[in-house]
Amino acid sequence: MSTTHKEEMQKLQAKQRAKVAAASNPNRGLILVHTGNGKGKSSSAFGVMVRALGWKQKVGVVQFIKGSWITGERRFFDQLGGIIWHTMGEGFTWDTQDRVRDIKAAKMAFSKAHELMVSGNLDLLILDEINIALRYDYLDVRSVIDSLNSRDKRTSIILTGRDAAPAICEIADLITEMTEIKHPFAAGIKAQRGIDF
Ligand code: ATP
Ligand code: MG
Repeated sequence: MSTTHKEEMQKLQAKQRAKVAAASNPNRGLILVHTGNGKGKSSSAFGVMVRALGWKQKVGVVQFIKGSWITGERRFFDQLGGIIWHTMGEGFTWDTQDRVRDIKAAKMAFSKAHELMVSGNLDLLILDEINIALRYDYLDVRSVIDSLNSRDKRTSIILTGRDAAPAICEIADLITEMTEIKHPFAAGIKAQRGIDF
């Protein structure tokens, strides 16, 4: 006799309920990694940030990117106020050829990130494009991991950027890899305000 759709769904529901019942609260913030070549790594992190803000949680952002390209999210969160936001390029005139200067700026940004992680003041901290700073060896992966491990229990961290380091992935609770199926840039369409920045 074939099982009915209803019976199948009931089985599935029971399984799912058992899983949920067995899951526990870790009572610590999580480490999330958004990586891969597809679009959506940073914007997804900002989506999580909005979710946290909806619960009146405290959030911060440190951006490990050169220059200070104005983005819609920066404009929005500035208007909203109350969000700690540091950009690696702030206060510098960027010379992209200057590796020594890049390293110095990345280290300064990370020391700010470390301070925020251990402060106990934040529920969520986004380290935007930190994976890129690690890939270029602007930052030492070991010291980043030490900081992540010494973070306040309250604080969840999202690390974004392509080519996430394997050692970071090892300690992460979540890794999502964005896969490029199609991107308008490949068809010659330039970055669009409100979609890309
Ligand atoms: P987003 O900020 O839109 O979530 P992202 O963080 O996943 O994108 P990044 O590598 O940080 O991607 O690049 C940021 C910029 O580059 C955005 O303008 C984005 O649209 C663009 N971009 C992302 N992925 C691709 C791609 N596969 N091809 C071309 N441009 C891309
Ligand atoms: Mg990004």
